[in-house]
Amino acid sequence: MVKICCIGAGYVGGPTMAVIALKCPSIEVAVVDISVSRIRAWNSEKLPIYEPGLDDVVKKCRGKNLFFSNEVEKNVAQADIVFVSVNTPTKTSGLGAGKAADLTYWESAARMIADVSKSSKIVVEKSTVPVKTAEAIEKILTHNNKGIEFQILSNPEFLAEGTAIADLFDPDRVLIGGREETQGGLKAIKTLKDVYAHWVPQERIICTNLWSAELSKLAANAFLAQRISSVNSISALCEATGANVTQVSYSVGKDSRIGPKFLSASVGFGGSCFQKDILNLVYICECNGLPEVANYWKQVIKINDYQKKRFVNRLVSSMFNTVSGKKIAILGFSFKKDTGDTRETPAIDVCKGLLSDRAHLIIYDPQVAEAQMMMDLSLPKFDWDSQPGSPMQIPTDESVSQSVKVVHNAYEATKDAHAICILTEWDEFKNLDYKKIYDNMPKPAYVFDGRNVVDVGKLRQIGFIVYAIGKPLDP
Ligand code: NAD
Repeated sequence: MVKICCIGAGYVGGPTMAVIALKCPSIEVAVVDISVSRIRAWNSEKLPIYEPGLDDVVKKCRGKNLFFSNEVEKNVAQADIVFVSVNTPTKTSGLGAGKAADLTYWESAARMIADVSKSSKIVVEKSTVPVKTAEAIEKILTHNNKGIEFQILSNPEFLAEGTAIADLFDPDRVLIGGREETQGGLKAIKTLKDVYAHWVPQERIICTNLWSAELSKLAANAFLAQRISSVNSISALCEATGANVTQVSYSVGKDSRIGPKFLSASVGFGGSCFQKDILNLVYICECNGLPEVANYWKQVIKINDYQKKRFVNRLVSSMFNTVSGKKIAILGFSFKKDTGDTRETPAIDVCKGLLSDRAHLIIYDPQVAEAQMMMDLSLPKFDWDSQPGSPMQIPTDESVSQSVKVVHNAYEATKDAHAICILTEWDEFKNLDYKKIYDNMPKPAYVFDGRNVVDVGKLRQIGFIVYAIGKPLDP
């Protein structure tokens, strides 16, 4: 029986390995992590991440050919294929701080694999890493010259949180990069291809050299984020001119050369990947003597930051230029619907912006725990052009706990609120009883829709003053 071990039981490692276990009953899959609480949760009824369909997949395989464990070394030693799916956040200090990927977790995983291995292994980069990382990993794996063969493959993950299981079941493509120039490399590529071939059609499995696979992942995320920043930049122009961004993006997306996906204007993109991967790309360009290319991609993040600031400024200026002491209902905190993940969610910057003008926030999100929100709102954030006194100023821990209340439904959040601010496109926000909500708010009652989920016309009829991203303003 082929044995797979995945180091890192996070948003990627957990779901990807659960799907491999489901689709390949002849393969034994161990998912290992240094976090005791995460592994305990994977082995419990309440999984550590919310992802539609994930519970079902895990229940079907757990204890049969899918295992979650803190015994990292033992499971790595026994595996034929070791996936490494550890986090690769942006470096916060030292060389490349604020841009380069922090590969500390990757390096320690690679050193451990080298130390505990007694048999040959295929080591798979599942994490998103800078192009050329495999070169450094090869050196680490072979440094102690044990005579064991390590083949390194790049197999970046393209799943999107919120649709991870559907994406894994039916991927647009699976990308496998390896040392195509060697027999060992070709054999390793085939071994991994055979795993995916259990359910992915051959023509969707793309095999490339290592550097193409590593760079393709960074490039794909940069392109996706670029589309969002492009439509968001147009949304600002829509508001200034009376054009409607929904109509514009529909018309633009109907061009088959452009396509309709990822063209929804919003308060900004979030999630653990887009910003970090573009910063990483920027850093790699700079290191390779390509400052103009670096500046091009940097602009995608600058527009994203601008969009969040623009939203906060619009909200404050609409409410007589101050939200001091006013109650603002925040609907949605996760970075997108159908996930509880709050990493880099625009809600953090928007809430901090409102708190810096001394607003009182009442927050509701169907999947994010109160402790997580409080932690997110207390932590400082890297902001490359933050100005003292700007809306991105970071509030202190004390002001957060005094000014933020977390509640369990949208009606509780909006009761007595001066304004409603929608920051995540959860389906339930489309169909709230907005008449009832309006009746329970002081007047004038405002709605600031950062995700274009509400029916603007209907809400205006009820009496709300509505600002929706990229839509013509209230008459
Ligand atoms: P995560 O933080 O949810 O999970 C990483 C896990 O690795 C953590 O549980 C951590 O405890 C564990 N870990 C770190 N070092 C370890 C070690 N030495 N031994 C054992 N466990 C260790 O991160 P994630 O969201 O799953 O992302 C993982 C990688 O996949 C990142 O590089 C990310 O860029 C990439 N990626 C993420 C997504 C996404 O949507 N989240 C999508 C595609 C790719």
